[in-house]
Amino acid sequence: MAKIKGLKRINRIINDFTQKNFGVTAEPGVEFQAFCEGKLINYAFVFSEEDTRFFEEDATKRFPDIHAEIFLWCLFHEIGHCMTDYIWTELDNEYFEQMAEKIYHIPDDDLRNDCYHCLPDEYVATNWAGNYMRKHPKKVANFWAELQPAILRMYQKNGLI
Ligand SMILES: [Zn+2]
Repeated sequence: MAKIKGLKRINRIINDFTQKNFGVTAEPGVEFQAFCEGKLINYAFVFSEEDTRFFEEDATKRFPDIHAEIFLWCLFHEIGHCMTDYIWTELDNEYFEQMAEKIYHIPDDDLRNDCYHCLPDEYVATNWAGNYMRKHPKKVANFWAELQPAILRMYQKNGLI
């Protein structure tokens, strides 16, 4: 792990939440990602502006009542992958991967993103995330109330803001 000041604390807060509630381990990485076999997710603080905008658009269109920060949306989406993974067979997952590969090559941004978010595993992961946040507003608010200041402190300590 790179020597980013304050990251240890962030990692502890996130893992206290994800391990206790879902048995999912979280590690900082270069992007948000789920490794469902190991019940492991990666989280990141850098977002591709485009991807984020499209993801946020898709999520808030489906869950207009949820006003969560994009970091939380992404985190719960990855947890959602792990929690819904049992639905899919190996063949399903292979198919999703092949479809995703095809979709990455669609040149039109809107179309590519629409297609991507329609992939059943992506759709279901976002669904899980939205439903969880909708059903547990207090828990999520408490989690964010602890996590957000820790993220801000990390930015400050490293001279990023
Ligand atoms: Zn996903």
